[in-house]
Amino acid sequence: MRLRYNFRLYPTVGQREALARAFGCARVVYNDALRARETARRDGLPFPKTGDLSRTLITQAKATPERSWLAEVSSVVLQQALRDLDTAYRNFFDGLSGKRPRMGAPGYRSRKDTRQTVRFTANARWQITTGGRLRLPKVGDVPVRWSRRLPSVPSSVTVIKDSAGRYFASFVIDASPEPLPETDAVVGLDLGLTHFVILSDGTKIESPRFLRRAEKKLKKAQRDLSRKQKGSKNRARARVKVARAHAKVTDARRDFHHRLSTLLIRDNQAIAVEDLAVKGLARTRLAKSVHDAAWSRFVTMLEYKAALYGRTVVKIGRFEATSQVCSMCGVKDGPKPLNVREWECPHCGTVLDRDVNAAVNVAKAAGLAVSACGAQVRPGVIPAQRDEAETHSKLTPSPV
Ligand SMILES: [Zn+2]
Repeated sequence: MRLRYNFRLYPTVGQREALARAFGCARVVYNDALRARETARRDGLPFPKTGDLSRTLITQAKATPERSWLAEVSSVVLQQALRDLDTAYRNFFDGLSGKRPRMGAPGYRSRKDTRQTVRFTANARWQITTGGRLRLPKVGDVPVRWSRRLPSVPSSVTVIKDSAGRYFASFVIDASPEPLPETDAVVGLDLGLTHFVILSDGTKIESPRFLRRAEKKLKKAQRDLSRKQKGSKNRARARVKVARAHAKVTDARRDFHHRLSTLLIRDNQAIAVEDLAVKGLARTRLAKSVHDAAWSRFVTMLEYKAALYGRTVVKIGRFEATSQVCSMCGVKDGPKPLNVREWECPHCGTVLDRDVNAAVNVAKAAGLAVSACGAQVRPGVIPAQRDEAETHSKLTPSPV
């Protein structure tokens, strides 16, 4: 399986200038190629081939006074810009033919884009030096913060500059699974209203304080930005502040997701999750989309770690009625308003915690044998048998 590893880069002033040139040249070649294809399409000419574009827009262009500066950067970076455009076209055409979700036609890249990238393949002869720096052709030996071990030698590296002005090296690695010893433990997860996630054993996990603090700072920065006059210098400064605060939130959230997903994968053989929460509908549209996006990134993380460590993640559809069924006896007693956090099951008398009950139901819907005890706030008189519960729920008259 292919995994992506990102590391923070700390280029020197000179290296930043060299990278800016690389971003700029890659963008120019990309835009030139896009223009050539658009022009051909408009004039009813055949779609220009990548090899031809490479010859005219890179090799021959370097010999002209207008484009001679293309020679200042690694030509692999320029070739990769053409590949990127090919990919963008392929995705666009696949979308048209229904092979994948529909997406827009490739667009021009701008120097104002918040994210700039260049890719160095093996041909570029980039390498990791014995001193642990990233050697990039025509850039130099860039210092890297190696936050974790690379399991194998990557064949290519993408250098990214994000909207907060930070640099990253992104490697794609072919990783082979390393299954952990098997365990009997299984767990269901529910995306909570009041917590980030609730486990079927009754554990409620809140976002860590450092994440909440970063989120608060981001909100403040966004408020400050909205008060600044359009086009003013203060506004530009405030925008950088927002970008930085945003980057901090993203990092803190990713960190938290990594820690939590590693713990859950280590301790459980199987994990059941809701595909996306229906409950999210109750939130404001923005809060919901942020929350749901965070949740789906977390689930993606669980899935790749499960594949890597020999565990299972089961997703259940988002319209399972997780809060309508008693996780103790299985009786379905209908929807409840969102402010109802606890209720007593009319059949077995158990007082249930809404979120934990949902997490247990998620696990059960996925076919996992979890104990429902975590969902009890107070046990009922006698836990009913499953078949009895079903008879009750269908309201069939007793034969006696
Ligand atoms: Zn019940």
